[in-house]
Amino acid sequence: MIEICAVSGYEEVGGNLTAVRVDDDVILLDMGINVEHFIEASEQNARSADELMHLKAIPNITLIKDWAKDVKAIIPSHAHLDHIGAIPHLEKKFDAPIMGTPFTIAVLEQIAKNEKIVLKNPCKKLRYNKKYQITKNVSVELIEITHSAPHAALIVLRTPYGNIVYGNDFKMDHSPTLGLPPDIERMKKLGEEGVKVFLIDSTRIVEEGRTESEAHAAKKVREAMLKNAEGGLIVSTFSSHIARIRTICETAQEMGREVLFMGRSLSKYLLAAKDVGLFDYEPYGELVPYKSMIRKKLKSIAKNLDKYVLLVTGHQGEPQAVLSSMIRNQLPCVIKEGDCVIFSCTVIPTEANIAQREKLDQLIMEKNISIEKDVHASGHPRQEDVAEILSYLKPELVIPSHCTPEFREEMAKFVESLGYNVKVMRDGERIVVE
Ligand SMILES: [Zn+2]
Ligand SMILES: [Zn+2]
Repeated sequence: MIEICAVSGYEEVGGNLTAVRVDDDVILLDMGINVEHFIEASEQNARSADELMHLKAIPNITLIKDWAKDVKAIIPSHAHLDHIGAIPHLEKKFDAPIMGTPFTIAVLEQIAKNEKIVLKNPCKKLRYNKKYQITKNVSVELIEITHSAPHAALIVLRTPYGNIVYGNDFKMDHSPTLGLPPDIERMKKLGEEGVKVFLIDSTRIVEEGRTESEAHAAKKVREAMLKNAEGGLIVSTFSSHIARIRTICETAQEMGREVLFMGRSLSKYLLAAKDVGLFDYEPYGELVPYKSMIRKKLKSIAKNLDKYVLLVTGHQGEPQAVLSSMIRNQLPCVIKEGDCVIFSCTVIPTEANIAQREKLDQLIMEKNISIEKDVHASGHPRQEDVAEILSYLKPELVIPSHCTPEFREEMAKFVESLGYNVKVMRDGERIVVE
């Protein structure tokens, strides 16, 4: 018998964790933080798993207390914090290997190292399209899919009762700039084999059409950078978006400029990318992770700013990140009138982000520094992308995930309109898959 428990990530975007029980074996899919609550918890110095759970910063695993002893594997889908960030805080509660793609595992190891946490369970780097037996009855295979972090995967659990496919997060990008496009042939084969349940990313289901390709975003970033080739140039994007960072590096090289990667999270992800042979930042510039180093570096380059591209953290306006600190003069604000800040991102629509980005944009504009906003393409599927993947997998049941209640309902409506069965779940709810 298969049972699924929607532990977390079904009421709000973040803190993803889904548990799948196959007779006596339990597999945990993702173990992420809720980024906003996690920052609040850190400000309150909350460290223990119980405190973090209480503050809703990490998934509430007491919901599967009765399943804990049967957990046989922890499988994160990709390297974003809402999917791996809680592993260092929760994995000790289980005796199970952590299995993921090489970049996902490398980032997890960087995070644990940075937080001075030693992982109890072994980490295993899995290859795509290879079957790994977890127990006598359950095996896992990772299928290549595109997203805004590299080495993302559709997780396929094979069981005696049918296949479970977990699709958080993904986009159907047929012309990615790093890595391969989604493995359509593999998905079609899986569809022929039969898919019992498909758990699907609902983040952008309210939007019609298709999500733009990363190739399109790369073109926009390059154009924005070249348009501002004269003075000081700051770019900020997601630290995990290695494809985008590579485009920024290549364009900087084209402009004859060196890249300074400023901020701790950029270092973590770039070291992980180098570690697994995905992208080597070294030919393009230098890591400057800590505030003391950043301060020194900024002072030394202030007069030659046109020789550099500053790639900095803080695109959501986070007050502690490098960009805000510079603009508020807590770090030397080397940019001045006529220079440019490119935001290669969208504002993640939470109240806190919207407010802090508005404030930051205003401060930048007061300095007469120009801003290029939303130079970005999303990593999540829109309606036509959802229809496409469903046409390959042909699942018997679809479970909307990675969503707020409103988006969950939208996904349910859309999927039903295509003729598929849907089950809407809430945090903590369990279902038996017939
Ligand atoms: Zn996510
Ligand atoms: Zn993601």
